Amino acid sequence: MLRILLATNNAGKLKEMAQIVKEEGFGKKIQLVAPKDLNLDLDVDETGSTFFENAYLKAKAFADKTGLPTIADDSGLVVDALDGKPGIYSARWGKTDKDRINKVLESLKGVPFDKRQAAFVAVMVFYHPKTLTTIKTVGKMEGFISDKPIGQGGFGYDPIMFIPALGKTVAQLTPAQKNQLSHRGKALRELLPLIMEQI
Ligand code: IMP
Repeated sequence: MLRILLATNNAGKLKEMAQIVKEEGFGKKIQLVAPKDLNLDLDVDETGSTFFENAYLKAKAFADKTGLPTIADDSGLVVDALDGKPGIYSARWGKTDKDRINKVLESLKGVPFDKRQAAFVAVMVFYHPKTLTTIKTVGKMEGFISDKPIGQGGFGYDPIMFIPALGKTVAQLTPAQKNQLSHRGKALRELLPLIMEQI
């Protein structure tokens, strides 16, 4: 059994990722460990200038501290008409989810629907502190920014991310639907077999 530490204290992400490990058939091979299982309280400053740099910083810091192979992710909303913003600054774009959403909607005022393309992007990094094996995957969920928030589910920018193929915002999806389609889900599904191949 391979013990892998997840470099996050976000309960939603931990649950989502544990579910995916099970669904993908790695439940008997991989045991995910949360920082709180180790009484570990580590906060890493996201000083990188890309999603990859921030994910790598987190994975390496948690792995070096514990000696455990670690998975970390960094994610955010990338809006084409805003030159990729808020991007790596997605969490720091405002004080609350509501502020952050309003800032995006305000910046896109007058921009027609077909020019409001956006994507949630997640970069996931596996880092092994003994072998220094580093593996990176990227997942994307593409859509358009709606002109107002719709739906109650999910978190963050979900209420303004409209997926045309579903006719819904991400905040209107069930957790299982979101898991299936999400940037994080895609990145983790690609990462798991690569870890088993390369360690
Ligand atoms: P981090 O990866 O925890 O640093 O998250 C970055 C920020 O991106 C979050 O605080 C959210 O604002 C945004 N974000 C990341 N993933 C999602 C998502 O699945 N839905 C909505 N917002 C997201």
